[in-house]
Formats: sequence, C-alpha cells, structure tokens
Amino acid sequence: MNVVDLRSDTVTRPTPAMRAAMLDAEVGDDVYGEDPTVNALQRRLADDLGFEAALFVPSGTQSNLLALMSHCERGDEYLVGMDAHTYKFEGGGAAVLGSIQPQPIVHAEDGTLPLDRLAAAIKPVDPHFARTRLLALENTWHGRVLPQDYLHAAHGFARQRGLALHLDGARIYNAAVAGGVSARAIAQHFDSVSVCLSKGLGAPVGSVLVGSAPLIEKARRWRKVAGGGWRQAGMLAAACLHALDHHVTRLADDHRRAAYLAGRLREIPGVNLLGQYTNMVFVDVPVERLQALDTHLRAANIRISIGYLPTLRLVTHLDVDDDGIERVAETFRSFFSRG
Ligand SMILES: *Cc1c(COP(=O)(O)O)cnc(C)c1O
Repeated sequence: MNVVDLRSDTVTRPTPAMRAAMLDAEVGDDVYGEDPTVNALQRRLADDLGFEAALFVPSGTQSNLLALMSHCERGDEYLVGMDAHTYKFEGGGAAVLGSIQPQPIVHAEDGTLPLDRLAAAIKPVDPHFARTRLLALENTWHGRVLPQDYLHAAHGFARQRGLALHLDGARIYNAAVAGGVSARAIAQHFDSVSVCLSKGLGAPVGSVLVGSAPLIEKARRWRKVAGGGWRQAGMLAAACLHALDHHVTRLADDHRRAAYLAGRLREIPGVNLLGQYTNMVFVDVPVERLQALDTHLRAANIRISIGYLPTLRLVTHLDVDDDGIERVAETFRSFFSRG
C-alpha cells in the first residue's frame, strides 16, 4: 500500500519524465552565468510573469530573504503579515541577516492585510523610527487566494506611500489556477515575486525570484554572500522547466481532491471542518485523540502533521491520487466511528 503523505506539498518526488529531463539537461557553471538550462528557466519565468529578470535559488526562504535584502537596507522596515511565512517560518532571516526590522500586521480572515492597519503602521520620517520601505504579501496564504481587487488596491496604496511591494508567491500558480487568472495578472501588482517550484509543482528543489534587472543584480550578489551560488544547477532547473510545462494546469486536480476530502470530513462527527482553500484542508479534532488518530492513520500508511495543535492541515499534491484521498476519508471515518 503506497503512502499518502498529506503533511505538505513539498514531499513530492520527481516523476520518471521529470527525471529523464534532468538527465538530459545541458549544464554549465551558473556562478559564471553559463548554465543554459538555468538561464532558460530564469528567462521563462521572467517572461511569464512580466519582469525584466529572474534568479534561480535553492529555496523559497532564500528567495524571500534576497528580495528583502535587495529592496531594503540596514535599519529599514518591512510590513508583513503576522502569520506570513516570511515573518514566522523563515527563522527571522530578514532581521538576523539583513538588519531589516519586520513590522507584523494582523491578517484579516481572508489573508489580506487591511490597508488601514498598514497605513497606521507606517513610521514617520524621523530618526526615532526605522524607515518603512516595503510591503510583503503572500498568495496563496494558508491556501487562500487573495482577491485581485485587493491586490490592485494594495498596489495603489504602496505607490502612494512610496513603498515597494514584494509577493511571496510560493503557491502563485495555485492562486492563478483557482482564481481563473494568469500568474502574470497576479504578479503585475508587485515589484518582485518569489515562486516555489518545489511545492505542488513537484520539482525536487528550487525557487525563482523575479524583478527588475537592477533588483535581480543585487539579489545575485546576496545569493553568493548567502552561500547560494551554485554551479551546474541546470539539472535542477530542468526539473523546474518540466514542472512549468506539465504540472501547472493539474493543480486543479489537487484543489478538486481537497474539496472532495473536505466534503467527506464534514460528515464525520468529531471532526470540525474549519475550511478548505485550494489544496489545503483545515480541521480541528479533539486534542486528546490526536495521538491515537495519528497512530490509526499511520497503520493505513497515511502521514499527517500534528505539530500545530489542535488544527490539522491536510495538503493535496502531485503524489496524492483519488484512491489515496478515498483511503484518507475512510480511515478518518473508521477512527471516529469507533467512538
Ligand atoms: C514553503 C514556503 C516558503 C519557503 O520555501 P522553502 O523552499 O521551504 O524555503 C515560503 N513561503 C511560503 C508561503 C511557503 O509555503
């Protein structure tokens, strides 16, 4: 029985076709800018998202960090969601490595950062204060697609207040597919966008930062400083190009499976369905039963993460099919039916 791993969409393994593309990749030394496959990936994403330039990096964390360090200087400040990945799940890198002060903002339920809260957080120009320079948003945020009219308003706000605007678009393609718009239509509101290829798109490694040519030049320097200058990275870039060619439209399957799973879990007494957004399902289960639930699921070769009590986040992806989802629904049902 194959494992159904719902902990994250990072757990996907490269498909046979993706591995074949990796084996065939033309490579060169990317620190010299000579890897043709890396260059093709960077050109492809810059063009797709409507930017001058792009930079291929090992992780989304590094991509966001390079963006923050390229937009801001020591003593600058960025406005960011209280539960944004960049603020909460990246080790405080902007502060630790960039001397950039985060100003966390409480999210609205839909993942937006209300403009009045942002306006109130901007510091006056005065030596007492850090210099507010950048607004960072995340789309999708905990699976939620930010409304296009909010992005439009946030763009106008940032322009008016002289802030740059960065998007942590780790799952921008999920947002695009679910929202029925192009990724470019989302990206157009931002000065830089970070995209993860190693989440639902199924590449083993890699993120890409897009922005203006001068911004990406700065990011390239910081990437080297951060130890992210890599050499024959074309084998990884080939996997990312394959993912862009073959794994974007199928994200709709992940969303459909998450919606189906949510519908099944909603019927089970003892499971409190909190919501389903794109490829994520959120449920509360009684804390005292979590350990036993985990054991029961493991016996059926199902992996979940019980790290963020009491809410479970179940994530669908490339390596979870209809049969797998059926097994998850059945196994939840059998656990809760024994009372
Ligand atoms: C995963 C993720 C990142 C970071 O990506 P890593 O490659 O794991 O460093 C950034 N932002 C969001 C929203 C993510 O989900």
